[in-house]
Amino acid sequence: MSKRDYYEVLGVSRNASQDEIKKAYRKIALQYHPDRNPGNKEAEEKFKEAAEAYEVLSDPEKRAQYDRYGHAGMRGGFSGGGMRMEDIFSNFGDIFGDDFFGSFFGGSTRSSTRRHQGTRGSNLRIKVRLTYEEMANGVQKKIKVRKYVPCDACGGTGAKDKGSFQTCPTCGGSGQVRRVTQTFLGQMQTVMTCPTCNGEGTVVIARCDKCKGSGRVYGEETIYVDIPAGVQEGMQLSMSGKGNAGEHGGLAGDLLIVVEEEPHPQLHREGLNVVYDLYISFPDAVFGTTVEVPTIDGKAKIKIPPGTQSGKIFRLKGKGFPSVNSYERGDELIHVNIWVPQHLSPEEKELLEKVQHSPNFQPQPDKSEKSFFERIKDIFG
Ligand SMILES: [Zn+2]
Ligand SMILES: [Zn+2]
Repeated sequence: MSKRDYYEVLGVSRNASQDEIKKAYRKIALQYHPDRNPGNKEAEEKFKEAAEAYEVLSDPEKRAQYDRYGHAGMRGGFSGGGMRMEDIFSNFGDIFGDDFFGSFFGGSTRSSTRRHQGTRGSNLRIKVRLTYEEMANGVQKKIKVRKYVPCDACGGTGAKDKGSFQTCPTCGGSGQVRRVTQTFLGQMQTVMTCPTCNGEGTVVIARCDKCKGSGRVYGEETIYVDIPAGVQEGMQLSMSGKGNAGEHGGLAGDLLIVVEEEPHPQLHREGLNVVYDLYISFPDAVFGTTVEVPTIDGKAKIKIPPGTQSGKIFRLKGKGFPSVNSYERGDELIHVNIWVPQHLSPEEKELLEKVQHSPNFQPQPDKSEKSFFERIKDIFG
């Protein structure tokens, strides 16, 4: 797309005065200001285009260069088209005066259009211990976090009261300092954030007693964390802006939540599957039975068919853990162990001796469908 002529963009003649250029830009900037055209891409483009035109035409050096060479003359010295919104807004102080946005668009605009003030707070890492049930189903956790919070006495500004601010003496309130350098294309201006006020435009002359001017105090915040279903030990969730408050009203850091697994008294986790070691008596294995087994969500009944071998694995489909990032879901694997009695009464001993050498009691592993190791291989692959 070819660039429009800067004079055309601002709607002024080629011999317009600086004052006319300024007025024209002011009008366009107001009309297409993003706060008045939220989400309107076309308005944003017009807004940027006008800012770029103004940047050039308001500077006699650049304007002369543009008049002679057109857009081609702008390369190198000026990054035409690449203006960032912050740069545009940061130049507004010159055109509109410092209190313009405060009075025109209402208080909130001013802070949102400015660079971020203060120093960003640090990230904070906390651990949250979850049961199997919580990891499988997701849970909302209420957590008290000890951290830096904005000082309520000064609203995070670090100032004693409203009268404790003074226009920054270094930048005169614009939040920026300009440096002029000579290049082969002529004078070039670089704009830097004012080092005295960190771009805030004001300095605090009397500090808040509570936070000693830092704008934050050590305190506590109750945070509700939504843990999604399917998390695992060691996974980390992050909540932006829930970490330590920044200094002087700076952005807060992030809160990083590390998942810790609370061991289950009877189950253990194998990836998405959950494994349960079931013990049944020898007669139950012979005659078959129904047993109750623990699951992540409670209990389930399973049928043990007659003649069940030790080492058999039953599978409860879908009773394992869900995956946090797919529709996959694990199973519960019930590993059968046959309990061998450790003590016998004389009668029991006598009974068993009767059948001890009976052919049906002799192991015949070839007749059972699969060996234990083959079954393990089937399941864990
Ligand atoms: Zn304070
Ligand atoms: Zn300053």
